[in-house]
Amino acid sequence: MHLYSTNDQQRSNKVSFQEALFNSLPEDKGLYMPEYFPELKDSFFENIENLTFQEIAFEVADALLNEEIPAVKLRDIIDDAVNFPAPLAKLDDEKFVLELFHGPTLAFKDFGARFMARTMSWFLQESPSDEEIHILVATSGDTGGAVAQGFLNVAGIKVTLLYPKGKVSELQEKQLTTVGNNVEALEVEGTFDDCQRMVKEAFLDKDLRARLKLSSANSINISRLIPQSFYYFNAYAQLKRQLSFDANKKLVFAVPSGNFGNLCGGLIAKRLGLPIQHIVASTNVNDIVPKYLEGGAFEPKPSLQTLSNAMDVGNPSNFARLQAFYQTRPAASETELLNNIQQDISGARYTDKQTTEAIKEVFDKYYGYTMCPHTAVGYLGLKDYQAQQKEDSYGVILATAHPAKFVDTVEDTIGESVKMPESLQAIMQSEKNATLIPADLEALKSHLLKG
Ligand SMILES: *Cc1c(COP(=O)(O)O)cnc(C)c1O
Repeated sequence: MHLYSTNDQQRSNKVSFQEALFNSLPEDKGLYMPEYFPELKDSFFENIENLTFQEIAFEVADALLNEEIPAVKLRDIIDDAVNFPAPLAKLDDEKFVLELFHGPTLAFKDFGARFMARTMSWFLQESPSDEEIHILVATSGDTGGAVAQGFLNVAGIKVTLLYPKGKVSELQEKQLTTVGNNVEALEVEGTFDDCQRMVKEAFLDKDLRARLKLSSANSINISRLIPQSFYYFNAYAQLKRQLSFDANKKLVFAVPSGNFGNLCGGLIAKRLGLPIQHIVASTNVNDIVPKYLEGGAFEPKPSLQTLSNAMDVGNPSNFARLQAFYQTRPAASETELLNNIQQDISGARYTDKQTTEAIKEVFDKYYGYTMCPHTAVGYLGLKDYQAQQKEDSYGVILATAHPAKFVDTVEDTIGESVKMPESLQAIMQSEKNATLIPADLEALKSHLLKG
């Protein structure tokens, strides 16, 4: 796989997957983007319903990475990274929920974090280095926990998580701050946007770069996005396993979005040949991308705090990548580019009030099915999209977190208690361990160089 930077129109500096994985960001401040997506064979799609999730994931990963990771190794990586299910729950004949929250931290980011950790670990075994890799991660709540679990005890790698003080749930904070060993947590006196900015600045800081081997496990890293395409294929396989599957119906995904990494996973799947006709980019009131999709300017602004806090993003970091999927050569005009994107993706945004109403609506209408606030935002996006369409479609909502992770909101809304998975109960008993720092690069720098 060769990747170019989204800031390098000429594509004159291409890198391998290994380089993109370890560098995270190109020096020109763009994002790494695969130059070419091989289309998967028709026979793969014809037989997909007979494959397991791991087999599907392997076929997809192998098509992208076979030049750099031998098949036997890739199979091991996948078997270890994709070792929990992503079942498709049926709400009704045209609404399905793809549950991506059965991993160790009960959120979809477990897929990306585990795959990234396993591939990095393999490359490090192949070409050992004396220098420790230092992974910096900004988290609005869920990324940090997933990355901490994914990288826990991986030799040669140290992880520093930055999270905004007072802006993550108690449970999320426990997941971030109780892991220990090679994982440390910094509690930043600022917002998620501050955390994200500090990580970006650290990357571009020549001094730090010279002294530490930095990498990022945020969804700016392409290795987080590749595994996030696997489950789109798996949703299709599960639909095909249904007795009533109708191949002529459109396939629509609704993706609750913040930094748009999960949505880019869907675009990878589409480019590899998965018949996705439409994607609904559903956000909370941090609606930078829906505004753009409706013809407005792309205008980052400070994020607002909402109930779906993992999507409280004011400057979505994968936006340049989203555009790059639709960019032509020579480059299209801004208007043409937007037109191309609008063929496949539409935006929608919802308030907290609408979100809790949706949680209640789903609970009442679909026999007690319980959604987390993020998933509920996806549900609303799908419902509104399908209501506008003339034809029936298969609509799949990506359920990004387990409802128990947002237990207060969910219980207040449905008026019943939510069953807490055992892994979460255990973590609530552990002691928080985090270092408080101000929201500026100098503070981060001196912390990193100290230790
Ligand atoms: C991260 C996250 C999202 C948003 O995903 P992006 O890839 O940033 O768009 C949505 N829901 C939950 C629960 C998350 O953790």
